[in-house]
Amino acid sequence: MAFEGLADRLQSTIKKITGKGKVSEQDVKEMTREVRLALLEADVNFKVVKDLIKRIKERAVGQEVMESLTPGQQVIKVVKEELTALMGGEQSKIAVSDRPPTVIMMVGLQGAGKTTTSGKLANHLRKKHNRSPLLVACDVYRPAAIKQLETLGEQLSMPVFSQGTEANPVDIATEALAKAKEEHNDYVIIDTAGRLHVDTDLMDELEQIKAKVKPDEIFLVVDAMTGQDAVNVAESFNEQLDITGVVLTKLDGDTRGGAALSIKAVTDKPIKFAGMGEKLDELEAFHPERMASRILG
Ligand code: GDP
Repeated sequence: MAFEGLADRLQSTIKKITGKGKVSEQDVKEMTREVRLALLEADVNFKVVKDLIKRIKERAVGQEVMESLTPGQQVIKVVKEELTALMGGEQSKIAVSDRPPTVIMMVGLQGAGKTTTSGKLANHLRKKHNRSPLLVACDVYRPAAIKQLETLGEQLSMPVFSQGTEANPVDIATEALAKAKEEHNDYVIIDTAGRLHVDTDLMDELEQIKAKVKPDEIFLVVDAMTGQDAVNVAESFNEQLDITGVVLTKLDGDTRGGAALSIKAVTDKPIKFAGMGEKLDELEAFHPERMASRILG
């Protein structure tokens, strides 16, 4: 399960304070020290932890807690609200263009789960929003990537637009848009190329596609298990492309939670979806509040 380590630590810290009829400043100090350590151990960005602890402290020794009848529980409420805010507060919805099709560009490093997530997202849009997406294979550097997307399309009985490995990705994306209009596909999901590292060639190509198709969403797909590396990757992609949201994959295998808790604060871009497994229905809309509840038990 996601966040196991962090959840265990925070829950035992919190148990110590929940039942208290009176919460002293010393109690708050001890609690925040443990929360701080637990977050750092979970690989949450150092500065993010510092700011969060400061806010929790200010509120926990404030009036709303001290004058409450159940101060212990009130402190937990503060922690939960702050964790929720840290992950973006409200759930961030997917864009809907008033001039269909809505165009979503999927970007990220190789192996992050971009192609799988493109399929999952198409499935999600059809199942939950009654949409008919067109998947577009723009990773022309890896024939296997095109094949992978085509296989996903077959599994989902959904159309996949591809022009093999010879065509230019910008042209493929442009023609895919025309095709979607013709076929009345209301979403276009463009699976772009990834590299092992962030490099200028990759970014140039993505910028060109972006300039041409003017996407409504640019989703960065990052692997939650890579912790702060995922956060750094998100910073780079955001600087170059001004992404609109993040999809965190492999949250099912991430026992720490550092990326999930840091990305919004560091990039100011919301986490829109979380990948919870390899199967095509294992994609969840990301709800900060539910996630905070999961962590705090
Ligand atoms: P890409 O190179 O970014 O297109 O990555 P792929 O879509 O090929 O995914 C790389 C690997 O990660 C594959 O084995 C996927 O099945 C796996 N994967 C993707 N998303 C998830 C997820 O949410 N959970 C788990 N456990 N595996 C995932």
